[in-house]
Amino acid sequence: MSGPLLKVKNLVKHYPLRSGIMKKDLPVVRAVENVSFSVEAGETLCIVGESGCGKSTIARLLMRLVDPTEGRVLLDGTDIGSLRKDELRAWRRRMQMVFQDPYSSLNPRLTAGQIITEPVENFERLSRKQREALAAELLQQVGLAPEIMHRLPSELSGGQRQRLGIARALSLKPSIIIADEAVSALDVSVQAQILNLLMDLQEELGIAFVFISHDLGVVEHIGDRVAVMYLGRIVELATCESLFAKPVHPYTEALIAAAPIPDPTRARLEVPIDGEVPSPVRPPQGCAFHPRCSLAEERCRTEIPPLVLMQDGRGVACHVRAPARQVTIL
Ligand code: ADP
Ligand code: MG
Repeated sequence: MSGPLLKVKNLVKHYPLRSGIMKKDLPVVRAVENVSFSVEAGETLCIVGESGCGKSTIARLLMRLVDPTEGRVLLDGTDIGSLRKDELRAWRRRMQMVFQDPYSSLNPRLTAGQIITEPVENFERLSRKQREALAAELLQQVGLAPEIMHRLPSELSGGQRQRLGIARALSLKPSIIIADEAVSALDVSVQAQILNLLMDLQEELGIAFVFISHDLGVVEHIGDRVAVMYLGRIVELATCESLFAKPVHPYTEALIAAAPIPDPTRARLEVPIDGEVPSPVRPPQGCAFHPRCSLAEERCRTEIPPLVLMQDGRGVACHVRAPARQVTIL
């Protein structure tokens, strides 16, 4: 196979503020605006940004749980928007999701064993013996004892439940897992264990991750590359190493300054910049960050900066720090 495993092209998602009425000029929530990125097989791409910047919407668009307003999602070169329902179902085996709150995403009336084998049983019938063997194998992969298969989610700890959520995602042998705030609800010590488990699984099975988090410490721990989002757009896309060593976008810089992260289990994201995140219903003209940016120039108030490819290979959307020359990514 050539080309990236996952490719996202100019993805846009606007939610109508009031449903039902289809008037053109009705205000919309601009949750995702012109987002493009790709993920290579076996790679971890992190998406980081403050609450409300569009991260979960991207996850839903990748999984095709919602339809995009514009743009495309390609897996192994196939546009998932072009698939029929039955094709989409088969295709979903390859892309699985792990959610923030393992408790509400696991059926409380099923045993752990039933929960993790259910996705496979949606595709093929298993005998009791086969089901138990599969459950035991999956539990072992996520570091849980086989006895756990008979327990209910309510009888498990938060960390154990998240391991179950991961086992369930692994059951169909996906090539990519979308993890949306997968460790955010866990105690810090358990967070580190789950992150290490994900990294071990990646090494062992070659799975790619889109790892979504508001927490830079977590991102630095697990990411190969990072996309920083602000109000629906990617403002910087770089390798984890270069992003943390030398952030270029003023927003990235502010985020990192707010969270110096010697200990990945400690830092919490708080932005040392004035003002609130503007509303995605009426985002500022030009660069959405300009009202909070100390570098803002006239141009920033009128023109949306494109994501410009820098010499070191990163993308930055900033008129001041990354003035557009010939090559633009978007
Ligand atoms: P994040 O995961 O980064 O916190 P989300 O993707 O959940 O952000 O939300 C992005 C924006 O879209 C927010 O302003 C949110 O209120 C809005 N939004 C998300 N889902 C819906 C929906 N179903 N209808 C209307 N607005 C939505
Ligand atoms: Mg979210």
